[in-house]
Amino acid sequence: MASVEFVRVTKTFENGFIAVADFSLAIKDGELLVLVGPSGCGKSTALRILAGLEIPTSGEVRIDGRNVVEVEPRDRDIAMVFQTYALYPHMTVAENIGFGLGLHHVPKDEITRRVNEAAELLGLVDELHRRPGQLSGGQRQRVAMGRAIVREPKVFLMDEPLSNLDAKLRVHMRSEIGRLQNRLGTTTLYVTHDQVEAMTMGDRVAVMDKGRLLQVGTPKEVYVHPINSFVAGFLGSPAMNFVEGALIVKDEALWLGLGQQEVLLAPDVLANHPSLREYLNGRPVLVGARPEHFEDNDIAKAPLSRCITADFELVEELGPQTIVHMVINAKGIVLDEAPDLASESTKSVARLIGSFDPKTTALAGQRRVVAIETERLHFFDPATGLSV
Ligand code: ATP
Repeated sequence: MASVEFVRVTKTFENGFIAVADFSLAIKDGELLVLVGPSGCGKSTALRILAGLEIPTSGEVRIDGRNVVEVEPRDRDIAMVFQTYALYPHMTVAENIGFGLGLHHVPKDEITRRVNEAAELLGLVDELHRRPGQLSGGQRQRVAMGRAIVREPKVFLMDEPLSNLDAKLRVHMRSEIGRLQNRLGTTTLYVTHDQVEAMTMGDRVAVMDKGRLLQVGTPKEVYVHPINSFVAGFLGSPAMNFVEGALIVKDEALWLGLGQQEVLLAPDVLANHPSLREYLNGRPVLVGARPEHFEDNDIAKAPLSRCITADFELVEELGPQTIVHMVINAKGIVLDEAPDLASESTKSVARLIGSFDPKTTALAGQRRVVAIETERLHFFDPATGLSV
């Protein structure tokens, strides 16, 4: 077991591209930390730097407090699992799992012991004599895990290990890897661009964008208190809705103007977001509403002052919830996959996605009253994207 630390790591490639910029992150002993971000944000580069496959341009990488930047990859006591399992097709499962140990001159009976132990842990006992071609995708993925486990490394590095599996198997393997890591207690850095994996697998999640670390915390902390609109929009599915709003004081209460409509904000909104006062002078504010903050008002039965009227374009009954695509006349803000307020596109109608109780009778084509849980709304500065 080991602690891992990136200290102000920067990686500039030969062509001048800065893939990782001033990146500092500490992974605790025994922790599973998920590093998440959009494609190209530099997460694989960070992981490869920890593995020793890339040399940082500056900064330190510490394992158990020791700077390992000069240490050869094979001497770092790290095992990696990639999205391509790279199993040897002509070897059996047992030979594949034990292969790395052979290279490290581990005695034969010790290899057999460790391979059997890993097979037991991974439910591969009956497959040990099969070849990879005779296995399902999930079993192959477990063999790759087995190969990492038998090394008994200080640290596991996993780079999108589930991305080649179908959706159902991914869900299964997600919990399996989580359970396994918990049982082994091996410090793990898990890289993914899948926000569901980020939300469900890790003790903590670290969100990256454009080479920079934006926020680290438990999945819930980061979901409930995102530091900016990028993090807010990246975590959560369907994603957070963004719309331009204006704060209005009327009858000693605080209202939120969304286009022509006004919604009464819960009394504690200002107490929870004291910096909102700076937007009371008519400056627009970027409002973030998660789908679950909307509800069909036939169900919520909120006062009309806490509601908006919306046109329903599409209603998707998913079973546990009903997803409703709504349009209101307000300035909608579309943040692309890598939201960047400088490149936002704004429209005079806002398209919003709500996640309703499945008891809703909502139909596409209707205009209906929708309640907003105003105390859970998020507010961001439109210029900086920072949480207000
Ligand atoms: P993905 O999820 O798509 O794998 P990622 O977040 O893991 O993305 P990296 O693989 O770390 O991203 O790459 C970060 C950026 O660095 C990308 O824009 C990539 O094109 C660039 N990059 C990677 N390797 C090199 C290299 N050897 N030379 C120049 N640029 C590189």
